[in-house]
Amino acid sequence: MATLIDKVGAALPEKPERPRHPEKQNRAETPVLRKPEWIRVKAPISKGFSQTRDIVRSKNLHTVCEEAACPNIGECWDKRHATMMIMGDTCTRACAFCNIRTGLPAPLDTQEPSHVAEAVAEMGLKHVVITSVDRDDLEDGGANHFARVVRAIRNAAPKTTIEILTPDFLRKNGAAETVIDSGPDVFNHNLETVPRLYLSIRPGARYYHSLRLLERVKERDPQMFTKSGIMVGLGETREEVMQVMDDMRSAGIDFITIGQYLQPTRKHAAIDRFVHPDEFKSYETIARAKGFLMVAASPLTRSSHHAGEDFAKLRAARAAKR
Ligand code: SF4
Repeated sequence: MATLIDKVGAALPEKPERPRHPEKQNRAETPVLRKPEWIRVKAPISKGFSQTRDIVRSKNLHTVCEEAACPNIGECWDKRHATMMIMGDTCTRACAFCNIRTGLPAPLDTQEPSHVAEAVAEMGLKHVVITSVDRDDLEDGGANHFARVVRAIRNAAPKTTIEILTPDFLRKNGAAETVIDSGPDVFNHNLETVPRLYLSIRPGARYYHSLRLLERVKERDPQMFTKSGIMVGLGETREEVMQVMDDMRSAGIDFITIGQYLQPTRKHAAIDRFVHPDEFKSYETIARAKGFLMVAASPLTRSSHHAGEDFAKLRAARAAKR
């Protein structure tokens, strides 16, 4: 039996706000562990922070700093360093570690490349990091849009060096090449975790596909810097981290980042443990011995943290090797 309810003339109930992570609604909640004393961050209250926020708002931009609830936002925005997130604020993937909204994204904003470029010029950035949500809904995964953003920045701010942090473009033939050919200075794509944990932590992705993406960058443009990162504290072993380092070196990756995973909400993947700063130091020593040009490993390391300073070091390290 169907029941019809006549709503004509009646006030419609307010539409409840869609949950940020509908796919995680039914997951069991896990307790959020108390942070150790070595994870301390600067409060976002400075003048520089407000100025960065005003520019971001006035250009209608999204940043991964806010969307991913990055712990470094107080420090980075104070120095006017923000990582722009293009192609909307909604991702087609649902990774267990990530705080970015999941769902079907809105159509691309054709004005976005010029708005991002204007913001970069206005902020006078020496180095900019551009990332995006995954856009599995688009035929090219958003590769052409990414390339348009890179070219718009080159035109508006020719002295700014450009680092891109891309999705994996899984099953998007030709997408990686389109982005590489737009000519960023650094091509970054994070492996995020060790292969054993992919099914639970990064279920929509494939470890070897991600690795191969970075290898293809080097094959197409050997001069382009490549960069990748992982989070630790998710249950990986030390041996598995070593293996990821070896895999990255085999793919010719120049720069590795290793940071502590922090759980965004009780519905996200639980933290297995807080890795001690001494262990990060040890990872750094080993990674350098394995031949990376540049290594950033600390509890608060994120792929875009100190990206400008690190890019200068990366270039210097390559020059010193010649
Ligand atoms: S580390 Fe990266 S994502 Fe985090 S606040 Fe800094 S620029 Fe933004």
